Amino acid sequence: MKFDKEISHPIHPHHKLKLEYTEIPFNCDGCKEAGIGLKYKCLRCEFDLHKACAVARPRITHPFYNKCDFQLHYTPPGGARRRCDACRNEVLGFVYHCRRCDFDLHPCCANLPQVLQDDDGRAFYLCLKLSGACHCCGGKGPGWSYRSDCRAYNLHVSCVKELLVESWQAMYLNVDKNKVREIQTRIPSLKGTLQNHHHGGRGGKVRKCCEIAGGAVRIIVSAILGDPTALIGAVVGGFMSK
Ligand SMILES: [Zn+2]
Ligand SMILES: [Zn+2]
Ligand SMILES: [Zn+2]
Ligand SMILES: [Zn+2]
Ligand SMILES: [Zn+2]
Repeated sequence: MKFDKEISHPIHPHHKLKLEYTEIPFNCDGCKEAGIGLKYKCLRCEFDLHKACAVARPRITHPFYNKCDFQLHYTPPGGARRRCDACRNEVLGFVYHCRRCDFDLHPCCANLPQVLQDDDGRAFYLCLKLSGACHCCGGKGPGWSYRSDCRAYNLHVSCVKELLVESWQAMYLNVDKNKVREIQTRIPSLKGTLQNHHHGGRGGKVRKCCEIAGGAVRIIVSAILGDPTALIGAVVGGFMSK
């Protein structure tokens, strides 16, 4: 796919926006969610848009809701608070809304790939509902998830998002060392869960599954942040490998 290097956008009409690649997390001024990878950036003021938000088509359909007609809104429609049906975050800006069924999707969530491949070619499938407990929260709550090929690994889109946003806020904004430590200990516990899960299995399987976990988290994280091709930046990468 090819994209324009420079665009104009109706919500930021006075300046041109330039396509840029970043490994430093940013906040999208369209959907108000975190992003990484490709973004459209104003060179004259602090204004960023996810690539997915900047080039969002006015109407889309989605395979999970095949009777729906999703229309793009720059601000959430209606007076009530709305949640994205994919990531369960509150909708604060750009949103695809189906008026008939009242479903809402962030543009980045609407764009989440149905299948993600890690470096070793293992596949992770996007699911409308969890088929097993989420390895992050242990629950089967609502919202989309990714499931591994072997079905052993389920991860809420919302859980990955929450971990990331918490860790960035702790590191960049509050600089609260205790909070950083608290969050970092949650990833090893995720690895622990996976190890336990496979202890009954054949000998060589344990390490393989932990490697899958690391690769899965990385690839899922970059997809959720709006760019499935992005490498995770040093901060996030360090946080993940601890
Ligand atoms: Zn956005
Ligand atoms: Zn500007
Ligand atoms: Zn609908
Ligand atoms: Zn969402
Ligand atoms: Zn979860």
